[in-house]
This record gives sequence, C-alpha cells and structure tokens, in this order.
Amino acid sequence: MRADKSFIHNLPKAELHVHLDGSLRPRTMFELATEREVVLPVSTIESLASYMMVPEASSLEGYLKRFELTLLVMQDSDALERIAYELVVDHAAENVRWLELRFCPQLNQKQGLPAEEVLDSVLRGMREAENYVAGRGQEIQSAIILCGLRSHSSSVTSETAELAVAYMRRGVCGFDLAGAEAGHPVLNHRHAIKRAYQAGLPITLHAGEGFGPESIQQAIEFGHTSRIGHGTRLFEDPTLMELVRKLRIPLEVCLTSNLQTGVVHSLAEHPVQQYLKLGIPISLSTDNRLMSAVTLTDEYTRARDAFNMTKKELAAIARTGFEHAFTDTARRLDLLHQFDQHVGDSLFQD
Ligand SMILES: [Zn+2]
Repeated sequence: MRADKSFIHNLPKAELHVHLDGSLRPRTMFELATEREVVLPVSTIESLASYMMVPEASSLEGYLKRFELTLLVMQDSDALERIAYELVVDHAAENVRWLELRFCPQLNQKQGLPAEEVLDSVLRGMREAENYVAGRGQEIQSAIILCGLRSHSSSVTSETAELAVAYMRRGVCGFDLAGAEAGHPVLNHRHAIKRAYQAGLPITLHAGEGFGPESIQQAIEFGHTSRIGHGTRLFEDPTLMELVRKLRIPLEVCLTSNLQTGVVHSLAEHPVQQYLKLGIPISLSTDNRLMSAVTLTDEYTRARDAFNMTKKELAAIARTGFEHAFTDTARRLDLLHQFDQHVGDSLFQD
C-alpha cells in the first residue's frame, strides 16, 4: 500500500538524530541576529533560508561551515531557550513522539555562558514546549544527547562527558562524537566515551559519513556505541556489515544530509535499501532541519519516493526509532505500545 502524505504525517515518529545548532527556524535565526546586532551575509529571511541550505554534493566541511553562523546567535540563555522550545514544538506538529536533540555545549560558551546555564536554558525550552504541546492535546517527550567534537582535544570531550553524566537524570540521555570525522578517530576520545559509558549513558557515534568503514569499526570496537550516526559507508566492508547486522546496531540514516555532504551522489545509490534487506535496524532522521531544509516527514516522503516504500515498510522504520530510543524500558514500552495502537495490527498483516 502506498503511503500518502497524511499517513506519513500522522505516523508517530521518533527523531534520534537532529542537531540543535543546525535546526533553527530561518525567521528565528534572522530575528535573533537582528536583536543581537549580529551581521548576517544576507538581508532577508527568505534569502537566509536559501543561504543556509547547503547545495547538494557539497562536502562535509562545507556543510559544517554553516554552523559557525548559527552559533553566532546561540550564545545566550534566551536564544537557546527559544530555539529549543521551537524545535520541540515543530517536531510535535509532525507527530514526533520521542525526540533526541543533540549539541556540543562548548560551542555555546563563546561569550562566557557557563556550561550548566547552556544546558539549563535548552532544557527549560524543551520542557516549556512539552507543556505547551500537552495543553493542545498532543504529546511529545524530548531528551538531549551531548556531543563531543572529534576535532577538540580529549580533555575538552572529557569535560563534555562529565557534564553529560552530571545531567543524566535531568534530561541528558546519551553521548555522541560529532564534527569532522577524517583525521579525528574515536580512539582520540576514548576517555570521554569510557566516562559516559561507565556511568551508564548510552553512546551513539557519528561514523561512516566523512570517513570509511574503519571509523565504524572503531566506534564498535572502542566506542561502546549502541547506535551509529549515519553509517552510510558501512557497505564498503561486507564483514563489518555482517557484524552490525548480527549485533543489531541501528543506523541513524539522514538521506538529505548525505546527499548534501556528497557521501552519496543520488538517493537511488544510497545503501539504505541494502541495509534494510539484510535486516540492519534503520531509523530516519533529518540531521539538520535548517541546513537541509527538511522536516522528518519530508525525509520519510523522500524514502518512499526514492525506494518505492510501502506503508508497512515506513511504519517498520518508524517503529525501529522507538525500539532504539535512549530511554528506560518502561518509557520505551509505553512509546511502542502507543505506536502499535496507532498503526494497528492490520498494517503488519498485509
Ligand atoms: Zn549529525
């Protein structure tokens, strides 16, 4: 059965991979810049939206450059609270029921905001949004994954891990390594990862996006990772692919972002279909709603169009997102129960 737009929109979804500093509303970025007298390279909201969107088949480095601009307006408490609030509200509007948003707190401290205030501001925005949405009869729950940057020193990523552990019961649900992958191996950050892992925080690592399967291998072997961010280049190593299948390590697949960074040259050649056929768990994510100019509903729609996916296949992907959410068993089961009730047994019987 073909999934129409309303089926995809209404489908309860989990978003496991979205960057706070890549997902501002263009209008908000523009207004924050005006209020803070930050000079932008363009002078209207519309031109800002297209300027921030990276052309397809650019490079990871070109893509990452755009973050320097968003971060200019993400250095104070009010801005962070507003951006987090809007991100949760926007996800709720497309029936995302579980949201894990991620960011690297050191990048929001360029004007001296203490790390705890960075986190508290984002958390305040998230909780306000959850309450607002609940008041309108919708439901969304959200949590934070803190990112260490691969290009930072191991002492900086260890600080991030320490912060993540301190906020474990206050809204942080996981630890990640993000940023430029080539030349910055997981091994450089093993202390940070070990700290988070031993404290009981689940790990997801960007790997197999800006570098090849060796990076994924390291993430599994030394990074205690329970999910992989992207994993696009996994297919280059069939033995590793078999290991990922056996261990049931899910890949957080970001189709549009992969096109923009040039990891794949067309969706038709994206390996996600191969992964699905093998039985590797797959979830879909936007990565960056601003730089990619997409919503999660758009990503599902792109998957449907590029791979001719049925309702059942798209629903299975959505369910995988909930299965691998970084939350406790009770909440995961509750989310899955709600998902199954919405989708109904009939969908899985055809
Ligand atoms: Zn990412």
